[in-house]
Amino acid sequence: MLRLLCVTAHPDDEAAAFGGALLLYGSRGVKTYVTCLTAGEAGSRGPTAKSRNELAELRRAEFARACAILRVSHAQVLGYPDGELYHVPASGPVADLAYRIRSIRPQVLLTFAPDGSTGHADHSMASVFATFAFHWAARDDWFVEQLNAGLSPYGVQKLYYLTSEFAFPGRRPLSLAPTTATLDIRDFLEDKIRAFQAHLTQASPIVETVIRQQRGTETYHLAAAVSLRSMEMETDLFSSIVTDEVVVGTER
Ligand SMILES: [Zn+2]
Repeated sequence: MLRLLCVTAHPDDEAAAFGGALLLYGSRGVKTYVTCLTAGEAGSRGPTAKSRNELAELRRAEFARACAILRVSHAQVLGYPDGELYHVPASGPVADLAYRIRSIRPQVLLTFAPDGSTGHADHSMASVFATFAFHWAARDDWFVEQLNAGLSPYGVQKLYYLTSEFAFPGRRPLSLAPTTATLDIRDFLEDKIRAFQAHLTQASPIVETVIRQQRGTETYHLAAAVSLRSMEMETDLFSSIVTDEVVVGTER
């Protein structure tokens, strides 16, 4: 069984940033999981939310609808403070993410790049937390209480950062991770946009325009892998993944 875990910062990231990969691998029978660190209560309130709590509830519902469109197998919002992730001690979210890695046992982990992929500081922190969780979930000297409760250390085989070959107009400068994997998501582009549109409070024609400017691709950077390898360009995030000693989808 192939499994993919995607770590995001806000409801709508799963659609706007990773929606193509989630749809593509869901269509191939991969079980897909999304863990979103915040409920997005600091975001745009849209016409209906009167308070941060109301917005959080609305955005959790929008997230659930978007994940249904993206055919995500299991989606979860953790409730860390939106806009404040850099104030959160790393031990909390890293332990939470390591717990999910050890429970779900995905072969592939997706998240933002440390520059946030869009420059958003919460995206940067999601990247940092997910990267530590990737490394420490595999070790027997981290989060020992999880091991005492019956979980085992687990090494995700590949960690990917979202990258892009465009910049949002007017945004702060980025230092983008180089693209090492390009996914063809043309068959899923309209569903990706439909999933983003499910986030009614965050409606943005700019985001839709930028998604279309990528011309049916999503691009990623292979940041770490459990097996030694040299740089190669990939078109499949599951290439060279080993399941029960069978290598699937290899491009080599
Ligand atoms: Zn975001």
